[in-house]
Amino acid sequence: METMEPVIGLEIHAQLNTRTKLFCACPTEFGAVPNTNVCEVCTGQPGALPRMNGKALELAAKAGLALGSAVNRESLFSRKNYFYPDLPNGFQTSQLDPPICQGGSLTLELGDGTEKTVRLNRIHMEDDAGKCLHDEKRGLSLVDLNRAGTPLIEIVTEPDLSSASEAVNFLKKLHALLVRLGVTKGRMEEGEFRCDVNISLKPKGSPVLGTRAEIKNLNSFKFVGQAIEYEIERQTGVYGRGGSVSQETLHFDSEKGETRSLRSKEEAHDYRYFPQPDLPPVEISGELLARLRETLPPTPEEAKKRLVALGLKPRQAELLLERPGAPEYFHEAHKIDDDAPRIYSLMEELFLPACQKEGLDPSDSLFAPPKLAALAKLLRDGTVGRRKAQELFPDFFAKGSDPSEAVRSGNLSQITDPSELLPMVEKVAGAFEKEAKKFLSGEEKILSFLVGQVMKESRGRACPKTSAELMKNHVKERFAGAAKETV
Ligand SMILES: [Zn+2]
Repeated sequence: METMEPVIGLEIHAQLNTRTKLFCACPTEFGAVPNTNVCEVCTGQPGALPRMNGKALELAAKAGLALGSAVNRESLFSRKNYFYPDLPNGFQTSQLDPPICQGGSLTLELGDGTEKTVRLNRIHMEDDAGKCLHDEKRGLSLVDLNRAGTPLIEIVTEPDLSSASEAVNFLKKLHALLVRLGVTKGRMEEGEFRCDVNISLKPKGSPVLGTRAEIKNLNSFKFVGQAIEYEIERQTGVYGRGGSVSQETLHFDSEKGETRSLRSKEEAHDYRYFPQPDLPPVEISGELLARLRETLPPTPEEAKKRLVALGLKPRQAELLLERPGAPEYFHEAHKIDDDAPRIYSLMEELFLPACQKEGLDPSDSLFAPPKLAALAKLLRDGTVGRRKAQELFPDFFAKGSDPSEAVRSGNLSQITDPSELLPMVEKVAGAFEKEAKKFLSGEEKILSFLVGQVMKESRGRACPKTSAELMKNHVKERFAGAAKETV
C-alpha cells in the first residue's frame, strides 16, 4: 500500500468575551439557574427584533487583525436553518458571505526548529444554541436557553495541518493569543473554546484530497490529540483493507478513546442559508479598525525594539521575550520605577527563577510588579543591600510581601552609619588579625574577605562600601606600626 499522509483542517469556536449576548442584553454568565438569562429575542419569540452587540463586533475584528486577516468593512448575517430543540428560532444567526474576516494565518514553530504557516480561510460571527439536558431518571429531556444567543466567532483554517501534534500546537497558540487579546476568556471546561476537526488521508505527495470525516465539538487539547491519532489509525486501517472512508460526522468518546459515527453524508444538513432580514449589514468604520489596531500587542520585533528603547541590551530583551508573561510583568514594574536595567536584573536573578521553580506564570505570582519596583527602589537608594535582597527574596516571593513595608516594620534596612558599623569593623579586625596584616602588606584582595566578615556580623545589613572604607582606615591605624616592624 502507498504511504498515506493525513490532511487536517480545524474549525474553532471561541466565545467572545462580552457581558451580554450577541443580539440582546441578557447576561452571558455561566452557571445561572436554567432559563433565567433569557428574553424574547434569545428565546425566538415572534416579532422580537435582534440588535447587534457592538463589543462582539470589536472583538471579532480584533481577532482578525491579530491573525492577519482582511476585515470586511461590511459583512452580513444569514439564517442557517435547522431544527433542534435547543434552537428556539429554528435557525442559527451566522455569517455566510461575506463574513467579518477573510484569510489570515498563524505560524507554528515545529519541534525540529522549522516553522509552518497555517492559513486561515475565514472568521465569522454567530450565536450559540441553548443546551439540552437529559434527565434519565425521569425520562425527560429539558432545555436550558441561557446559552442561546451567546456570541461566538468561528475560525476556519485551510487543511494545512498534517499531524495530531501540529493541530494541538496550533490550538494552544491560537488559544493563548485570543486570551491575551481579551477576545475570549477561553475557559475550555465551560465550552468557551472548542473545535471541530476535519481529517482525511491521501497518498503521500498526491494533490487530490481523500474523503474527509469531521470530528465534532472537542473541548480539550488532549482530546483533540487523541481523537486525531485514533482517526488516522482508523482511516489507515480502512484503506489498508482496501475499503473506502465515508464522509461522516463523528463524535469522540473520551472515555473509550474512540470516534463514533453521528450521521453520514446522506443525513447531512441542508441549511438553506439566506440573509437574515431582521439585521442590517454589519458595518465597521476605518476609525474603529485603526483604534483596534492600536490595542494589539506588538509583534516580537516591535516588542524587542520597545524594550531596548527603555534601556535593555538586545540580548536581555530577547531573554525576557522568550518567557511567557515576563515582558508584561516587566512593563508593569517599569511603569512604577523606570530603572529598566535594575528591574531586569531583579527579574532575571531572583523573580523569574523563583517563578520557574514554582511552575508559576509571572502574572499569577503574589509578588506583583509594584513589589518588584519597590525592591528596585530600595536597592537603588541603598536602603537594602544586594546581599540582603537576595537573602530576603524567597520570603517576599512566597508571601507576596511589599519589600518597603517589610523594611519599615522589620528593621531590615542597610546600615550606613559609621558609628554603628565601626564596632563591628573593630571586632572583625581583632578576630582576623593575620588577614588584616596581610592586607596592610599589600594583599589588597583580602579586604573583601574582611568586609564579608562584617556583613556576617551585621546579618547582611552592613553597607559594603562604607564598611570597606572603615576597615581600611581602621586596619591602618591599628596595625601600621606592627606591619612596619615585620618588614
Ligand atoms: Zn436575551
